[in-house]
Amino acid sequence: MFKYIKFFIQKLQSSKYVRKGKCLKCGNCCRNILLYIEDEPIKTEEQFEKVKQWDKHFYNFYISGESETGALLFTCKELDEKNRCKVYFFRGLGCRNYPKTDKNFLINGGKPLDGCGYFFEADKKFQSYLE
Ligand code: SF4
Ligand code: SF4
Repeated sequence: MFKYIKFFIQKLQSSKYVRKGKCLKCGNCCRNILLYIEDEPIKTEEQFEKVKQWDKHFYNFYISGESETGALLFTCKELDEKNRCKVYFFRGLGCRNYPKTDKNFLINGGKPLDGCGYFFEADKKFQSYLE
């Protein structure tokens, strides 16, 4: 029992990633979107057509490029020519939380898009554990 309590306390005290910086309103996160089908990024137009039949929200996007890994990149139709969101106050959680402080994403080398004004930092430096 004691070891579970100790584990829980250590977990609470462990270092966490925090998001810092600010949005520079470049619009890149609304233009380089990965969409998923069955937990895999969409790679073909046929897959995109299929998900649109399942969920009408996918009509909000159009194909605008391809990533280095062959996944399609999408742009949101709500982005205007001045990089502003036309539905800003009603945008979804995924938009509100970008870039997300997801531990697994960060540990696996994930980072905000190049040029993004946000960055991640550990809230406790390694040195503080030695002091
Ligand atoms: S990529 Fe970063 S800086 Fe650019 S619009 Fe998105 S959140 Fe803002
Ligand atoms: S809804 Fe707005 S914030 Fe979300 S992807 Fe579209 S343009 Fe960007």
